[in-house]
Formats: sequence, C-alpha cells, structure tokens
Amino acid sequence: MAAGGLLPGLEFLHAGTCPLKSKRVIAHYATATVPSPDLPRVPLEAGASPDNPPCPACGEPLFPWVGLPVGTGMVHRCEACGLGALSRTGVTADALADLDRERGDDGRITYSNRASLQAMITGGAWSGLGTDRAYRFTPESLRRLVSNRDQIVAGSRWMPGAGIATMWQSGINMFTFGHNVALSAFGRAVKVPARRGWQRALDGFISVVLALPAILIAVPAELAGALFRRGGKYRVKLEVL
Ligand SMILES: [Zn+2]
Repeated sequence: MAAGGLLPGLEFLHAGTCPLKSKRVIAHYATATVPSPDLPRVPLEAGASPDNPPCPACGEPLFPWVGLPVGTGMVHRCEACGLGALSRTGVTADALADLDRERGDDGRITYSNRASLQAMITGGAWSGLGTDRAYRFTPESLRRLVSNRDQIVAGSRWMPGAGIATMWQSGINMFTFGHNVALSAFGRAVKVPARRGWQRALDGFISVVLALPAILIAVPAELAGALFRRGGKYRVKLEVL
C-alpha cells in the first residue's frame, strides 16, 4: 500500500517534494511569523535643530548622554566622534580654545578621555564631568577637531598617575552627593560640592571610608583600560600638516 494511503499528510514524501524546498511553504512561514523589515531608519541629521547646535569637531548633531553632577544640567555627546559637550556653544573655535587651555609648557595637550573605561563604567559619576571646561574629548573627536586647523595628532601618551587618580575619584563619586571631593583636596580636580551642609559632611566621611577600597579597584581597572587604549588621561603632541 502506498504511504500516502496510510498517512494522508505525507503525500508530499510519496510525491518526492520536500516542504523546506517548497516556495509555497517558505512563503507561508515568512509572512506569518517574521515581522515587517520596514523599520524606520532615522539619520543622525534628524537630531539637528536650531536648539541643538552641531558637534564643533565634526558637524554631526549632539544627543543627550548623562546628567551633570548635582543636577546642574545635561551632558550631550556626538554619536559620530564621541565629543562630550557640557555646554551648548557648538562653535569649533570655542572647542579649540577649550583644548588649548590644557596646553603645557612643552606644547603638548592633556585631556580627560571621554571614551575611557572609567567614563564608560561610571557614567554620570565620571570625575571628568566635574570641570570648568565646556568639552570633554575622545581620541577621535580630538583628531577631527584639530584637523579644522590643519593639525594632526603626532603622538599620544597615557598618563598612568592621573588616569588612576581619576578612576579612583570616579568610583568614589558613585557614592557621594557632590563630586571630586577627595581629588580636589589635593588640587587635582574641580570640586562640585553637594547642595546641603549635611550632604557635604557625609561626602567627606564617605570619601575617607572608601579611599582604600577604591584604590584597590582603580589601579587594575585603569591598567586594563589603558591596555585597550581606553585610559582616563592622555597627553598628545600636535603637529601642523
Ligand atoms: Zn562629532
């Protein structure tokens, strides 16, 4: 007796037709279970508006990233080059002037790396947000910014001491109301004090208690970050093309 006679649902086997090769079956499953692929595609340019000036390094629009310490505003970032904008001036000359304020006697420029491991894992607690500067740079945003005045980055060196210090402070910031309480005591960071007196007092206590455990984590964490070119602080040498 033929197979099709015993099991009517298997006539295709008897007929030599595999269902997985059948266009009719594939079409049936594709339309029944897979959602439409026509998802909206929004270009980065859609974020541009008169109230949202473009990235001063590369011209792409800026998007909200994290809140500033003590709720004083919002940090924006460029999705294209990574530049962090703490204020909204959006002018290339301003960003270049901000960068040049970090120029040392040897002509090299020091910057806090917004693409660092410490900024990635601590977010709004990153010590680099406690600053009087308007911008926080990444290697890529710095490269694009200085290209506006025909410069290139001729060399970049990780600064281990400063990187470990800011990793340490960023970790402590995660538990305090204000920011940079410990590092500012050594004149190594801009302090963002908590609003209330009792909060400031508690911040001092917390900073002392966490100082040792935080450094035990900060050292290996910053070393790991530097290993992947994501250290907290770098000094760069610029040259004119
Ligand atoms: Zn950019």
